[in-house]
Amino acid sequence: MKGKTVFVAGHRGMVGGALVRRLEQEDVRLLTIGRSEVDLCDQAAVFGWFAKQRPQVVFLAAAKVGGIVANNTLRAEFIYDNLIIAANVIHAAHVNGAEKLMFLGSSCIYPKLAPQPLREDSMLTGPLEPTNEPYAIAKIAGIKMVEAYRSQYGSDFINVMPTNLYGRGDNYHPEYSHVVAALIRRFHEAKVAGVGNVVVWGTGTPRREFLYVDDMADACVHLMKSYSGDELVNIGTGEDITIAEFARAVAATVGYTGQISFDASKPDGTPRKLLDVSRLTKLGWRARTTLEDGIRLAYQAYLSESK
Ligand code: GDP
Repeated sequence: MKGKTVFVAGHRGMVGGALVRRLEQEDVRLLTIGRSEVDLCDQAAVFGWFAKQRPQVVFLAAAKVGGIVANNTLRAEFIYDNLIIAANVIHAAHVNGAEKLMFLGSSCIYPKLAPQPLREDSMLTGPLEPTNEPYAIAKIAGIKMVEAYRSQYGSDFINVMPTNLYGRGDNYHPEYSHVVAALIRRFHEAKVAGVGNVVVWGTGTPRREFLYVDDMADACVHLMKSYSGDELVNIGTGEDITIAEFARAVAATVGYTGQISFDASKPDGTPRKLLDVSRLTKLGWRARTTLEDGIRLAYQAYLSESK
């Protein structure tokens, strides 16, 4: 990557933002684009921009993302935007001679009931979790594009599958956010307002793995520099926790001391989502931020971002 022109697609998002922070430590020429300048859903605009800028290395971190309710409600937007962004950016990178591209998939591309921890080869072995099927199908299409461009054109394009991410730059929308941002906000607001009960969605029994976003960015840069191959690479911590335990950990960090109750009328989603990170470990990377430190960092970020 040294001295190369590196494009981060999606730099306003949580992952793209973390990638930009991480890449500022590297000797690269960093490119980003604002949505008002080039909408990644607009093929002509994307192709025009690539032809002019000709980035050599591309991190494809742009996506329409959201929590379980957003995925389950905005189903058309999630499939359309994510299909079109992947198609536009991957093809434009190919046509304009990008030397390397990394596509960010998601752990939700694995079948709902695949054996845990989820191995990379379990993709397309069974039905998906219905709440995020449109998003997952779009991501699978992106993964398959990367594989196809590798096999037909010999492009050095790679696929990585992050677990549930959280941290600086997260989206705190009360309904559409992911669980970490949602609970940080809800517990904080309850503490400030002196409310004695906080409702957590679902039964509290699903298990999730959480990776701090700066660790994710570091893993991506590590793999961009060192990995080339057609196999997916999972990026996670290798450890999971129940939503109930996680809610108690967030409450403790925020300093909320009231009750916690569960609303089982809200969806649980997939029962467990833990990645097998043995391939990533063999490739020489492991997560550094503990969940406790990560929740603390995320809460600090929430406090400064919500000012
Ligand atoms: P998922 O991993 O795709 O299911 O994404 P989420 O981060 O949205 O949800 C993870 C788990 O947290 C699910 O079991 C949710 O039901 C549960 N959860 C509990 N409270 C909340 C909340 O306030 N917001 C969200 N998004 N999820 C919640």
